[in-house]
Amino acid sequence: MNTRYKKQELFVGKTGQQLVRQAHIIIIGAGALGSASAEMLARAGIGKLTIVDRDYVEWSNLQRQQLYTEDDATKKLPKAIAAKNRLQKINSEITIEALIMDVNSHNIEQLIANTSLIVDATDNFETRLIVNDAAVKLQIPFVFGACVGSYGLQFTIIPEVTPCLHCLIDHVSDQHITCDTVGIISPAVQIVASYQVTQALQLLTGTYFEPILKSFDIWKDESSAINISSLRNNNCLTCGMDRNYPFLSLHHETKTDILCGRDAVQIRPSTNRSISLKNTYERIQHIVTHVIINSYLLSCTIENNRIVLFKDGRAIIHGTHQPDEARTIYNKIVQHNL
Ligand SMILES: [Zn+2]
Repeated sequence: MNTRYKKQELFVGKTGQQLVRQAHIIIIGAGALGSASAEMLARAGIGKLTIVDRDYVEWSNLQRQQLYTEDDATKKLPKAIAAKNRLQKINSEITIEALIMDVNSHNIEQLIANTSLIVDATDNFETRLIVNDAAVKLQIPFVFGACVGSYGLQFTIIPEVTPCLHCLIDHVSDQHITCDTVGIISPAVQIVASYQVTQALQLLTGTYFEPILKSFDIWKDESSAINISSLRNNNCLTCGMDRNYPFLSLHHETKTDILCGRDAVQIRPSTNRSISLKNTYERIQHIVTHVIINSYLLSCTIENNRIVLFKDGRAIIHGTHQPDEARTIYNKIVQHNL
């Protein structure tokens, strides 16, 4: 007899557990929030988890990104792969799909199609608004969560029922959802992820819940819960009467992103194209040092900058937060491949 989910089944019921087993959840981002949610959802026995992340494991992640080990950081494994490796050891009965990619307006609809719900674990607001547009368009619940410092924020968007993220944009203070230099402590992450996973389980098992925006500061021991039903905006361009999903349009895309809390810039080519890391290395080996190459990425140092190049042509350039400078460095490495 399989006793694995016995304690959970006592709580959500046999039917509830079957619904959990049949679900497919996509987690967008595999940093601190994504790691915490993914581990809880894998242990809960979600039938399929898709984990999407654009980055790789670094030593500075280990303080709070619970799925990763020193070995992952040494090997610079992409987070999606390292997460899958760890989660499959935790639960070999479920299906885990790892995608190393940047979520954008080109790919979001395809990514979330046929999923039961979306767990938000991104580190930037631009991506969240793209996900929000696609979630409303495809009518898929979107479990929003954010944290910075000791502060956290969570609410769930149910298309056509609750306000969407775009409706709430003026009510959610920028300083609380934009990563900056204040740092973060992991207890704040754990609380947001716990709220997110609770709402996910409630959605999957058909349990009714009020649209409540929860926020807290665990350091100051403060919290609040506000019913946001009345904040749905009829003029919202994402969920209102005359909607056009503005964040799914290309003009909202940037090709360079300054990465949250890091002295680094991501460069994203306008079209995704598979490049050969081995050929790239052979061509540039005389100008680079400190090379690590694995099946997913090539990391090397050129002058004073470290560049990490992925197979889809994306790169993260460290040691700068100037997009132009990052682009110049990128072109030294990649221009002939694209
Ligand atoms: Zn809206």
